[in-house]
Amino acid sequence: MTDQTTPDNTQATKPLMVRCPSCGDTVPYRLDNPYRPFCSKGCKAIDLGAWASEEYRVEAKPNPEDLIG
Ligand SMILES: [Zn+2]
Repeated sequence: MTDQTTPDNTQATKPLMVRCPSCGDTVPYRLDNPYRPFCSKGCKAIDLGAWASEEYRVEAKPNPEDLIG
C-alpha cells in the first residue's frame, strides 16, 4: 500500500482523518491504531481476505498479526 497522506503537522493537535478502505468510514489516523488505515480489526480482516482471495486464492486465511509492522 502506498501512503499518499503525509501529515505536515508536527503538532499532534488535529488527528489526520482518513477513509477506511474497507467500509469507507472516516476515522482518525492514529499511530496507536494497529489496524490503520482501517477503522477496526474487522475492516482490516475483510480487506486482507479480499486481497488474499484475489492474489493467492488460498483457503487458509492469512494471520493479520503477521502483517503488522
Ligand atoms: Zn472500516
